[in-house]
Amino acid sequence: MPTDPTPGAVAGKAAEKVRFAGVTKRFGDHTVLDGLDLAVAPGERVTLIGPSGSGKTTILRLLMTLERVTDGVIHLDGEPFSHMPSGRGGALVPADERHLAPRRRRIGMVFQQFNLFPHMSVLANVMEAPRHVLGLGADEAAARARDLLGLVGLDDKEDAHPTRLSGGQQQRVAIARALAMRPDLLLLDEVTSALDPELVAEVLDVLRDVAAGTDITMLCVTHEMGFAREVSDRILMFDRGRVLESGPSADLLDAPEHERTRAFLRSIG
Ligand code: ADP
Repeated sequence: MPTDPTPGAVAGKAAEKVRFAGVTKRFGDHTVLDGLDLAVAPGERVTLIGPSGSGKTTILRLLMTLERVTDGVIHLDGEPFSHMPSGRGGALVPADERHLAPRRRRIGMVFQQFNLFPHMSVLANVMEAPRHVLGLGADEAAARARDLLGLVGLDDKEDAHPTRLSGGQQQRVAIARALAMRPDLLLLDEVTSALDPELVAEVLDVLRDVAAGTDITMLCVTHEMGFAREVSDRILMFDRGRVLESGPSADLLDAPEHERTRAFLRSIG
């Protein structure tokens, strides 16, 4: 199985939605990502697996610019995203907010904890960013939000407050809220891990629909291997801040090369 994480299909600038080029992330003297090279094609669905602490969430947080790289460059749509050319001998400097903001808007993230605004109705939660970040009018933002609440099966809950909803329903609102910004990259960080087991399926069903009905590039950290097998094109197994192995989902799950991957899959199976 090839360990080169570069998808083979297409050439040219738009061929890569995301590229991590030699990305290192340290917290103090703890190296979390160690010269990571990783490329994701537009529309590709990639699942990141690996033991706790192997750096998966850090990858998503770097993409959301919630963290900054220590070394290396992240490219989005072929352009440096974490760093920008300084114009002085091609050196790269951290991107400033003016460059980051418009591009970060095209990235949606759903977290393990739903992080909804508790004092706002479901509808207001989904309208918030389109209204205040994109500047949409109230009617347009409400129409967009209602469409998405329909998609996640919550059209009858628009006036409810998040605290009155089940965890599964709250997470479906969080998915609608992320989609309301019309992202072309969706980051999913263990979105079912905080849910009671009986609520997991409804959230995964919504994500299956999103995957089937859109061409959004998806990067997903999950322990739900059935979902990963079905939805993702590729699985990357992380170990200590590096890609230990990667391959088409079924191949990696059915015939992992490394004992460490086998042991990990047994541990979550
Ligand atoms: P995973 O998602 O694979 O469980 P993470 O990316 O969450 O791994 O974390 C990798 C390592 O980085 C962990 O050891 C974690 O404690 C550490 N880490 C993550 N964020 C911070 C931070 N803000 N400060 C210090 N250490 C951190």
